[in-house]
Amino acid sequence: METIDSIKRLEERMARLKGQGKEIGLVPTMGALHEGHLSLIRRARDENDVVVLSIFVNPIQFNRKDDYLSYPRNQDRDKALCFREGVDFLFVPKVEEMYQEGFSTYVEVEGLTDRLCGASRPGHFRGVTTVVTKLFNIVRPDRAYFGQKDFQQTVVIKRMVRDLNLNVEVLTLPTIREADGLALSSRNQLLRQGERQVASALYRSLLEARELFAFGIRDSRRIIQQMHDVLHKAGIFRIDYITLVDLESLEELEGARAGAVVALAAWVGNVRLIDNMTLEEVTSQLKARHKLGVNV
Ligand code: AMP
Repeated sequence: METIDSIKRLEERMARLKGQGKEIGLVPTMGALHEGHLSLIRRARDENDVVVLSIFVNPIQFNRKDDYLSYPRNQDRDKALCFREGVDFLFVPKVEEMYQEGFSTYVEVEGLTDRLCGASRPGHFRGVTTVVTKLFNIVRPDRAYFGQKDFQQTVVIKRMVRDLNLNVEVLTLPTIREADGLALSSRNQLLRQGERQVASALYRSLLEARELFAFGIRDSRRIIQQMHDVLHKAGIFRIDYITLVDLESLEELEGARAGAVVALAAWVGNVRLIDNMTLEEVTSQLKARHKLGVNV
């Protein structure tokens, strides 16, 4: 594994490998790696000749300075994990190199980014789409790997790739969870002990939605209200949003339907967490569990 912090050097390496006909997979991350990230690496490893993982805590996608400063960073551990998982190139650019003096060009996907996390984190997605475009230009990957956990991000990036004719296949992989259902996230490290347990209520509220849907409830307002109740019972009151949206347009749905996504963002202590589930997926899971006699 080669660790590279220079954009030019990585571009040279990529150009040479492309010239040899190698297929390149990119896994963009902000580090503090966990099993969610590792699942992306493993898939990239399976499908490509060369795997590049980037670690870059991207300042322009944070709308709060304290969030940027407190974001978990652990490069030595990340490096060891990447080495173990067979990453070929670990790209760790410095902020000054990614955003040189006078940087003033941004990529923005309109509409899709006004909703959900876009509404509560102004400018966030502009930062994401700009940095991902830069990474695509630097690495020129054949495939790029993202997690369903950041559902809106995957929708926005897919739209950007389509709209700008970017020559990369975007793959979305399932959310990896803790035993109690909490979606793995680098930010989970910031939860205090009691808060960690409370945080699993996010998943329970999604299960609640799944169950209501499976029992034939289609009224989104009712589903969302019950989800609020689950969170309130757990002591979570600062809720940025709970919504039921179309998988592609992200438009809010009054009536739940298979294929729709239930998504939420809520604060546990000082940590903002997000999670989501697709209803289609969940009903088939539910049926499978009922068949197996598993209590859900
Ligand atoms: P991050 O480092 O949080 O920016 O995440 C880097 C990539 O890993 C993004 O595509 C995330 O969606 C993905 N990811 C983060 N958490 C998970 C998870 N629990 N399961 C699957 N993928 C994840």
